[in-house]
Amino acid sequence: MGIREDLTSLCAAFAEIHDLHAASSLLSWDQETCMPQKGLAGRAPALAALAGLCHEKLCAPRVGDLLERLAERTAAEDLSAEEAALVREARRDHERASKVPAAIVREVAEASSKALVAWQQARAASRFQDFAPHLSRLVSLKKRTAEALGYAETPYDALLDEFEPGVTTSFLQRLFLELRAELKPFVQEVLAARKVDAEPVRRRYEPARQIAFATEVARSMGFDFEAGRIDRAAHPFCSGIHRGDVRLTWRSSDDDLRPALFGVIHEAGHGLYEQGLPEAWARTPLGEASSYGIHESQSRLWENLVGRGRAFWKHFLPRLQDFFPGVAADLDVEAMYRAVNEVTPSFIRTEADELTYNLHIVLRFEIERDLFAGKLALEDLPEAWNNGTEALLGIRPGNDAQGLLQDIHWSMGSFGYFPSYTLGNLYAAQLFDAALSDIPDLEARIAQGDLLPLREWLREKVHARGRLLQARDLIRDVTGREPGMEAFLAQVRRKFGEIYGV
Ligand code: ZN
Repeated sequence: MGIREDLTSLCAAFAEIHDLHAASSLLSWDQETCMPQKGLAGRAPALAALAGLCHEKLCAPRVGDLLERLAERTAAEDLSAEEAALVREARRDHERASKVPAAIVREVAEASSKALVAWQQARAASRFQDFAPHLSRLVSLKKRTAEALGYAETPYDALLDEFEPGVTTSFLQRLFLELRAELKPFVQEVLAARKVDAEPVRRRYEPARQIAFATEVARSMGFDFEAGRIDRAAHPFCSGIHRGDVRLTWRSSDDDLRPALFGVIHEAGHGLYEQGLPEAWARTPLGEASSYGIHESQSRLWENLVGRGRAFWKHFLPRLQDFFPGVAADLDVEAMYRAVNEVTPSFIRTEADELTYNLHIVLRFEIERDLFAGKLALEDLPEAWNNGTEALLGIRPGNDAQGLLQDIHWSMGSFGYFPSYTLGNLYAAQLFDAALSDIPDLEARIAQGDLLPLREWLREKVHARGRLLQARDLIRDVTGREPGMEAFLAQVRRKFGEIYGV
């Protein structure tokens, strides 16, 4: 068979896998937004069946044969750079999947679908013991997955590689140690300095209007509501079913503007990435995001570097006042800018400020690392979580809901995901510096509410390239520097130094 026919066959095989994933994503989205409570009995096996089918198609010997033939042609340089990248990424997916027995894949899908519901109930009741059996099952399934995948040093490496290809436990260990050493004393300095008043965001903003305002912000960011939608859910997330069907969710607080507003900006940042993925490579591995860390860089860039920036509020405070004339009329830009940048140790990661956020990730990294190295038993988890929170943030959770039950990730079996958030924060800082130098009037445009130049820049530099480049190469290519923490540290020192006078 000719090389063109092989490529066409490969794309057709992956299109089918993509379509099964799309169906599965839609079922998961539905489970979290509108499925009736009793629907789970049917949903868990349906999701497991789709996961099994995807896995079977991905591991098919025919796909292996196609990839082997095409890899030879890559070496002979018969393929374009994009086609070679497609073969490289398809091969990575095929090889990873082929190492894991189908039975484990189905068991993980079914166990996590059930665990998700158990987690929601356990969190509502704040009882870790109700979730523990599910967690125990998922941890043991993921340990078996890691053994099947293989690793250089420790089983956790195999799990990290799923989200951030090439990143290892020992690399993160060094990174987090350094980051913690830089951040902890700075956080303490900020906390000891004059207090920032968050009262402007802690008013009674009516939830339905909060979401109307947040939706206007998402629209200004360039999120296309003809290729997406937004619904209420217990946990904010973004589900990219296809570049033409991207779903965001939100939750709100009656007396705090931040969860809904910054939640929506965050998820819309993910959503822009999904909507901007390369059309020409849709339904192939190249039409996907580069890594989860790069995905988080998009959401965090919009949330923190735009939404928590002074320029943003120059335009959007008057708009907020239009939405809430009786609530926000007396506010000025400085008061709002300071309020949204309040630094305070908090229990809930998703609501943490820009400065303490990464300390929440350090805690999760250390716990997952120890759990998968067999150094931490499940029954000791609540204690380890609370001790870790106290050591890093100086506060101790009063119950499990404030502590180790707060995140959705473990119930989905997504061990190894958390570090993507910090990598995303670091990438975001570097990308934003690059955007500022490429678009000299960027801050002025943001201050006019014109967020599209930034979206266009991100679309060209990041979104439209899909998985063409791996995370590290992408950051180096766009910013001219290796990924690191310098840009992030410089930005937070500048911003919080000014706000807090330290
Ligand atoms: Zn995110």
